Amino acid sequence: MACVVACKRENDVPEEHYRTRVVEIVEGKFPKLRMELRPELCNHCENAPCVYNCPTGASYKRKDGIVMVDKKKCVGCKACMAACPYDARFIDPRNGAAHKCTLGEHRIIDGKDPACVTTCISGARIFGDFNDPQSPVSRILAERHVRTLIPEAGTKPTIYYIGLELLT
Ligand code: SF4
Ligand code: SF4
Repeated sequence: MACVVACKRENDVPEEHYRTRVVEIVEGKFPKLRMELRPELCNHCENAPCVYNCPTGASYKRKDGIVMVDKKKCVGCKACMAACPYDARFIDPRNGAAHKCTLGEHRIIDGKDPACVTTCISGARIFGDFNDPQSPVSRILAERHVRTLIPEAGTKPTIYYIGLELLT
């Protein structure tokens, strides 16, 4: 949970809410058990229903692919929350606006990785530029078997998982 703690501290996430979580799934019965631990966060979907269901334009997608919320435009209607298949958003009780992962946009502008990536003690989180074919994430995408969460939702997530069965 180092990533979860780092995210909360870095991004001033309100009490009792999280921008990222680590989900633990156990399937089967002893002694035939399977367990999966996987970090979950906003998938910064290419085809983001939170964006096209937002009535005010507060939810938007940047040119670099990061999905953001303009809290000045947000009226707290929760249409984006209802549209998101990943439970990736919540309302910030301090200002009534939708709140979510921003992929550490204030850090990456300075060339740093997001806090969750920097803090992950096992290097499980990897951040990078899919538009650069030489970047580590592009090479992983080309060479490894990757999966996304709930692909059938049609949102085209840009968070990919390596080596997980994605138990439900
Ligand atoms: S995971 Fe949810 S909040 Fe994030 S871009 Fe996709 S639909 Fe929007
Ligand atoms: S809660 Fe805010 S960001 Fe979400 S749909 Fe309503 S106005 Fe848009």
